[in-house]
Amino acid sequence: MSRSAHPAGPRHADVLPEGHYTAPPTDLNALDSNVWAQTVTRTPDGVVSVGGIDVKKLAEEFGTPAYFLDEADFRARARAWRTAFGEDADVFYAGKAFLSRAVVRWLHEEGLNLDVCSGGELTTALSAGMPADRIAFHGNNKSTEEITEAIGRGVGRIVLDSFQEIVRVAHIAESLGKRQRVQIRVTVGVEAHTHEFIATAHEDQKFGIGLADGQAAEAVRRALALDGLELIGIHSHIGSQIFDMAGFEVAARRVVKLLAEIRDEHGVELPEIDLGGGLGIAYTSEDDPSEPHEIAKALNEIVTRECESAKLRTPRISVEPGRAIVGPTAFTLYEVGTIKPLDGLRTYVSVDGGMSDNIRTALYDAEYSVALVSRVSEAEPMLVRVVGKHCESGDIVVRDAFLPADLAPGDLIAVPATGAYCRSMASNYNHALRPPVVAVHDGEARVIVRRETEEDLLRLDVG
Ligand SMILES: *Cc1c(COP(=O)(O)O)cnc(C)c1O
Repeated sequence: MSRSAHPAGPRHADVLPEGHYTAPPTDLNALDSNVWAQTVTRTPDGVVSVGGIDVKKLAEEFGTPAYFLDEADFRARARAWRTAFGEDADVFYAGKAFLSRAVVRWLHEEGLNLDVCSGGELTTALSAGMPADRIAFHGNNKSTEEITEAIGRGVGRIVLDSFQEIVRVAHIAESLGKRQRVQIRVTVGVEAHTHEFIATAHEDQKFGIGLADGQAAEAVRRALALDGLELIGIHSHIGSQIFDMAGFEVAARRVVKLLAEIRDEHGVELPEIDLGGGLGIAYTSEDDPSEPHEIAKALNEIVTRECESAKLRTPRISVEPGRAIVGPTAFTLYEVGTIKPLDGLRTYVSVDGGMSDNIRTALYDAEYSVALVSRVSEAEPMLVRVVGKHCESGDIVVRDAFLPADLAPGDLIAVPATGAYCRSMASNYNHALRPPVVAVHDGEARVIVRRETEEDLLRLDVG
């Protein structure tokens, strides 16, 4: 299936090839703990709860659609990454997955660092007390204002993404009387996604500086020659939703080869290597992601082995998980509206949100699962497509899933694993009001990002 939107316009309600969706689960009321946040459970009366509060109460208090985030789960995952990598490595949470001031505080308390890639993310991080030296600034087109702000506030590192940026950052740092710690982002010719990776010499994408043709080596030469820069390492990020470590192995081998070339040419061993993020999570029961300690072990072994064979000191490793920390910790709660059975095809279940709160299905053909959460049901499974309320036939939340056949308007259904790239990519399409993010913890629920209001819309529209 294509990974981009239908070029000719809205998608048709195409019939999927046979075998695309799996057989209905044996128990529609069961909640797979791989897919749902840690404290999610079904209470004895059949209602699903998170952090000790049931979803009917949550819906009553906060409305739908809304994202409910399991704070204990978030902290546990952040801590697991931190512990797995230990004191000789750094874990940078990728803020673009989902960023709010509460999240920044949790990360700070759990000892993680933070990646930002815009002035807005930087401001959010700093305003919630993340120390600037624990922030890394990314992006392929940072503005002069953003670079000036980042250097002025003292961010720990800027990840340089182009030849022009090398000069620009050096110049701004010098004019501020500073020497900025930087990494150079290289493209190693590996593109990894889920169970496959493609390794080529070249990479046709907007990020980074290519290793092939000696471009990256030239970037290093230039960065080392500039007074405003302290080059601390090389950065590589190879993809997203990755389950197979083989892509990282190829990437690490190529980065270490560059480190050896730098040593041979300049007599310096760069102290750091950043292997990026992209580690996969379970969106459906078919996904089986690795634990942070397994990932840490694999990455450490790969880098250590490659460095030994290149006779390099093993550099300090950093990683940048976003999805793998926040993704599984939240679900989106929707109220069922219109239900439209199409004979012999499937039943369209419309919810009160859609592509404005989860664009990933339309954008990437992402797969999600869904469950009836306001009650249990013993009815037969029916094949459904969960769609939103937007004026666009590609407005699909869950392409294929099973829900009980007695589903009715007013039921609450929830889509798990929506913590990453859902609220952060939410839009106002059709003047939808972006849903709130509510953190639930130990019987208490607290809004950490409030729901947008019509007043918010009118305030931006100055007439
Ligand atoms: C997006 C991104 C990440 C995080 O990716 P996840 O899939 O959320 O882990 C990390 N590093 C860089 C440079 C990125 O662009």
